[in-house]
Amino acid sequence: MNGHYAIAIDGPSGAGKSTLARRAASEFTFLYVDTGAIYRTVGLACHRRGVDCHDEPAVSAILPELDIRMGYNEAGEQRMFLNGEDVSAAIRAPEISICASDVSSLPAVRAFLLEMQRRTARENDVIMDGRDIGTVVLPDAELKIYLTASAEARAERRLKELLAKGVETNLEDVLRDIEYRDYQDSHREIAPLRQAEDAVLLDTSEIGLEESCQLLFRTIRERLGIGSEKA
Ligand code: C5P
Repeated sequence: MNGHYAIAIDGPSGAGKSTLARRAASEFTFLYVDTGAIYRTVGLACHRRGVDCHDEPAVSAILPELDIRMGYNEAGEQRMFLNGEDVSAAIRAPEISICASDVSSLPAVRAFLLEMQRRTARENDVIMDGRDIGTVVLPDAELKIYLTASAEARAERRLKELLAKGVETNLEDVLRDIEYRDYQDSHREIAPLRQAEDAVLLDTSEIGLEESCQLLFRTIRERLGIGSEKA
């Protein structure tokens, strides 16, 4: 350990990683880092420039022009900045989810973003969520969680979230996107989504948000030997 705690939360799209990680970060006063937002920012940049997200040379060519930064507002929410512009809302569009998944299979993109994620963990107590945090980004994390749920349960939850944000969509489209990303994220050659050998498995298909939260908090207290707000 480098003087800071790290908790890695990995799992497929829509498993509730960000909601649970945010709640745990607030409970234990850790910094919450949503690494999917970083991949989404690269996806957005490609989309805006009309770059094919599968074309590695074309995507690699624009990487040096991208100044990607994370910031936090007064409410402690993570914001993403692309060349100085706050793109936190724009990266949530459904078509950008697909671009993010596409660019994330490119080794050049993963290498470009790796150090940014590791530096954040060196400088803070972090709860970092993504697909390869426990396996690649922070293999020495003090606690690794693999959070999952059935594709149907995840699609239903994601649909509610998107509708609440005013995005026009339906269950069929959301389930198709989730299955596309599940397949691509777990079959890519580099840093595929998989459970780290030493990760604790939490399956939330049958349990609600509150119960999942309590389960996660209990696991953190037991494994890290810390109380709320690290008291
Ligand atoms: O977590 P979120 O759904 O916002 O992530 C968007 C996409 O970014 C995922 O579908 C995945 O392909 C990619 N990703 C990744 N590695 C991470 C985080 C996200 O490949 N650590």
